[in-house]
Amino acid sequence: MTDKEFADFLFPEVKEIAYYEEKYGSRNLPDGAVVTRCAPSPTGFVHMGSLYQGFIAKQMARQSGGVLFLRIEDTDQKREVENGVEGIVKDFKEYGITFDEGYGMDGDYGPYIQSERGEIYKAYVKYLVEKGYAYPCFCTPEEIDENRKIQEATKERIGYYGRWSTCRGLTKEEAVEKIKSGKPFIMRMKSQGDFRVKHIYHDLIKGDLEYPENDLDHVILKSDGLPTYHFAHAVDDHLMHTTHVIRGDEWVSSLPVHLELFHLLGFEPPKYAHIAPLTKKDEETGNIRKLSKRKDPELAVSYYHEAGIPVGAVNLFLATIANSSFEEWYLQNQDKSYTDFTFTFDKMPIGGSLFDLEKLESVSKIYFSKLSAKQVYEETLNYAKEYDASFAEILEKYKDYTISLLNIEREIERPRKDIGSYKDVKKEFWYMYDELFFTKENPYSEVEKTYPKEDLQAYFEEVYDASDSEEEWFSKIKTFAEAHGYAVNRKLYKENPENFKGQVGDFCEMIRVMATTKTISPNLYDILQLLGKERLQKRLALFMK
Ligand code: GLU
Repeated sequence: MTDKEFADFLFPEVKEIAYYEEKYGSRNLPDGAVVTRCAPSPTGFVHMGSLYQGFIAKQMARQSGGVLFLRIEDTDQKREVENGVEGIVKDFKEYGITFDEGYGMDGDYGPYIQSERGEIYKAYVKYLVEKGYAYPCFCTPEEIDENRKIQEATKERIGYYGRWSTCRGLTKEEAVEKIKSGKPFIMRMKSQGDFRVKHIYHDLIKGDLEYPENDLDHVILKSDGLPTYHFAHAVDDHLMHTTHVIRGDEWVSSLPVHLELFHLLGFEPPKYAHIAPLTKKDEETGNIRKLSKRKDPELAVSYYHEAGIPVGAVNLFLATIANSSFEEWYLQNQDKSYTDFTFTFDKMPIGGSLFDLEKLESVSKIYFSKLSAKQVYEETLNYAKEYDASFAEILEKYKDYTISLLNIEREIERPRKDIGSYKDVKKEFWYMYDELFFTKENPYSEVEKTYPKEDLQAYFEEVYDASDSEEEWFSKIKTFAEAHGYAVNRKLYKENPENFKGQVGDFCEMIRVMATTKTISPNLYDILQLLGKERLQKRLALFMK
């Protein structure tokens, strides 16, 4: 029996690979265009790691005039979760990872979901059988397990290779016999590799990696007729003309088998860029470790939703960790977006990408500082509607007031950076709303200093005039403070502190504390203007008590 006859016996109905090779012709793209993909498996929620991968893939495709497509890898149907695919599509979309083609969209290289590509995989398995590079295996899971136990006990390499690959030695006639008698089987590749031979592979991120040739006869087609990840990866990325496989570095150890599969199939392998995992400093041990689904809520995309951290801030943060030189560039190019930056593989982290929430917060503050007051208002309102209904009501009631508040020291060269999340609007500015101010038992309970309050009443009764310009207002404060025992400047005060109640700055601080309960706030003049006489008077009365 020839290999060809054997292949026809195993896969009588399938098409020749020439059909698919022609159907999925090469893409017509400029030189250097990166064709890459997101290839999620619907086995759980989309986590930050997938978004980080997607972020990098998107940048690399877009900046090179290439293509980013979405392929759903659903060949492990036992591990699939309900609504897994919908969840993936939704989360990617929300985070701005948009595809040029792929699952749920048009495209010339589909279907883009592996469970619908069964016939294609079979054609390529058949092709390998014809070439003598694949064979049916009849070993039961129990037999494989038995072998693994022996391998463990005798400290031999685990796997189906050499003397352990029982079915590799069967003749075609023996195999046909077994199939005819109804024995279930799977398909394995017939590795041509030698484990003792080492090669160097140049990974675009990790650099040169030494690897041993693969010699394991990996499963390529499972008993359910679906391919394994290894085989589907080779076939799909070949037929979809992927130029760059950008994926998590948990796959580095599979590189030998992938390279061999490309070789056996006669395909040119893509370039690989293996991304370092997201890491953090463990709170208990202080060691840097991978983010874990079990321990770290920040791995879930929903975490940012609830925390009120905008998608744009998360993306800016991903840009910061994706390329070491991004942050400096961004500082120097205030008017630009991260999408204007040219990312390169050689500046991506090799070992681990530190995903530090404090850093995210500071990046998010920069992000917020560039938004308009109206944008912050609207987005905060949307957030509050979902997570803080009573604050949403307040925001709606005081729309213009809040926008004016958020506009203080914004849209200037160095805008304020006090908001890092939608939650911060309330956290930072609750005191601006009487509804929040006067429902506190004692809003001033956290004020540490005691102030010579007697002058305050006089100032508001006799001097403060809401129609003054900022200069007039400040010059009146100076005159008033000086007349009431405050030094006009720090120097004078420092020379003879015993002669003064303080300096003008201290007087202003007292006003600020009365108005806001804080020693730090946005520009005091603006705050007073916004609060207005009536609110100020109510606060003053309480403060005096
Ligand atoms: N389906 C694989 C995963 O979710 C994709 C890996 C790849 O990008 O090739 O890990």
